[in-house]
Amino acid sequence: MNLIKLQTEFGTEEKCLEFLERMRWPNGVRCVTCGSDKISKFSTKEGTRKRKNTTTGEVESKTVPARHLYQCLEPTCKQQFTATAGTIYSNTHLPVQKWLAAIALVCNAKKGISAKQMQRDLGVTYKTAWYLNHRIREAMIGSAPAVFEGTVEADATFVGGKFDKRRKRAKYGKQAVFGLVQRKSETGHSKVYAQPVPIETRPVVRGIIEDRVSETATVYTDEHPAYRFLRKTDRPHAIVIHSRGQYVDGTVHNNSVENFWSLFKRGLIGSFHQVSVKHLSRYLAEFTFRFNNREAENMFGMVVINLLAGIALEYKRLISPPSPITSFAELLPSGDEPS
Ligand SMILES: [Zn+2]
Repeated sequence: MNLIKLQTEFGTEEKCLEFLERMRWPNGVRCVTCGSDKISKFSTKEGTRKRKNTTTGEVESKTVPARHLYQCLEPTCKQQFTATAGTIYSNTHLPVQKWLAAIALVCNAKKGISAKQMQRDLGVTYKTAWYLNHRIREAMIGSAPAVFEGTVEADATFVGGKFDKRRKRAKYGKQAVFGLVQRKSETGHSKVYAQPVPIETRPVVRGIIEDRVSETATVYTDEHPAYRFLRKTDRPHAIVIHSRGQYVDGTVHNNSVENFWSLFKRGLIGSFHQVSVKHLSRYLAEFTFRFNNREAENMFGMVVINLLAGIALEYKRLISPPSPITSFAELLPSGDEPS
């Protein structure tokens, strides 16, 4: 989805609504109340309405935008509804055109787009841009395969954190993130899974590997104790010893997952100046989604559909205080400072 295509295909609100209609009801419009397929379509014209201003007492004329509606023809129902009815797109007063442009911006930005940039590009308020961005991220959750097969790299890293110059102490408040990469195979390109992990890394790391990695897959890790359990299992496993300066040993390496970390960190530094721990899993979902679908024909359409089907992410939930954060101990023994 490039800017030219966005302009020609989604240049008017009407075109955007027609697109949403095709995505929502590929087999023809159905009534949102009774499910009937006997539907008629009609539009109201853009008009003006006289309204008395309650404070000044003056009569002002207000523009009422054209509305595109469906009418259920079932005599017992007669419901009127829009293409966005009951979806996240109707929860805001934002035109669908802005939603679609925002989705295209996020899908295209390899390193993500900041709310500030989106504010300028779309001509919306910062708050709206920020909220749009997070809702789109939410629609990108769950792009990783359920089970990783073949050759799998497992690794953890740290992101974020504050540095106190006066005290010259090490960074604190860093968040550990654990990730898996299923390497490229005949069935497709490489796929990634990542999530923030708390202090108890050993059981957490073990749980993720047991849940998400096939028992026949070969797992490559570094020498961190969290991976020791692998030796006691029948899983094919090899270790790269980072502390001895060993990074690539034939096919035994963690380069794919390291590359993902560096992309993610560059995105965090370049596009987002501050990312709170609370929202980190959503940023990870965004980067994971783009990575896993980088060869997909219609990344844009996938997000549009996920948003149609998805549960609205309430603004209240986004801005609520984060759950108490445990302190995050070092997950890796050495040499993994966030870059
Ligand atoms: Zn109906």
